[in-house]
Amino acid sequence: MGVLPGGYWDSAGRLHREFELATLTGREEELLAGARSPHTAAFVTEVLSRCLARLGDISPVPPEVTRQLLVADRQFLLLQLRRATFGDRVGASLICPWPECGQRVSIEFSVDSVPVEEARDRAPTHSMTTSDGTEVTFRLPTGADQEELSDHLVVNEAETLTGLLARCVLRIAPHDDPPDREAVAVLPAATRAEIEEGMRQRAPSVEQTLEAECAECGRTFLAPFDVHRFFFGELRTDATALYQEVHYLAYHYHWSETEIMAMTRDRRHTYIDVLADAIEVLNSGT
Ligand SMILES: [Zn+2]
Repeated sequence: MGVLPGGYWDSAGRLHREFELATLTGREEELLAGARSPHTAAFVTEVLSRCLARLGDISPVPPEVTRQLLVADRQFLLLQLRRATFGDRVGASLICPWPECGQRVSIEFSVDSVPVEEARDRAPTHSMTTSDGTEVTFRLPTGADQEELSDHLVVNEAETLTGLLARCVLRIAPHDDPPDREAVAVLPAATRAEIEEGMRQRAPSVEQTLEAECAECGRTFLAPFDVHRFFFGELRTDATALYQEVHYLAYHYHWSETEIMAMTRDRRHTYIDVLADAIEVLNSGT
């Protein structure tokens, strides 16, 4: 069990923070192996929907809910899912950015040591007045916003910010209706930047840089740490290896494919190790 740094507000205005995760099984690995773009927000939604067993008193947790989770809550869940599946220790390989060094270094850290900042004032919506007197009410960005905007990110960063504000700003006083894209686009750049900063300050966050020490030159540096890329990069098994493991276990244990695919990677590998030992004992005749 864990607790989200932010939390999910349902339509009745209740906050859900406590969660339970199931570990990844061969089925999710198969999904990952076949995915064309596994680090997209839509894919995160799919994986979380399969693995989030409970959120508050919501169980099972439908994709509509995992999609509406705050950006940092989704990152936090991916980290916890990683820990539940493979344990707390993480190894990563980085290039030392000091120009006269540039060596590849291996670092190790624990999932627990990744700094997480909780939401400061928890509420479904927030209001602020910018320095030019604009009164705005907004909600915080979610996975749904990321899914919706991801196609535009490559096109134009300013357009993406307008799109994000148009989705998240619920009211610009004195108007009561949610503003359209045009109403947001005509706000002065400084005002838009202030609203964006207001969102950032109120949102929970998962630290996305990592302090690393280079074993070659002894200097420290900050490395960017993209939770999505890290998580899915590490998990991405090649499908051929996965099916070979299934075949090997099915051949020796006579379990069905469904049974084997429902196991976690750790459990599959444990049985494969046990089998290897048993076969070695057979071969040596002891
Ligand atoms: Zn170095």
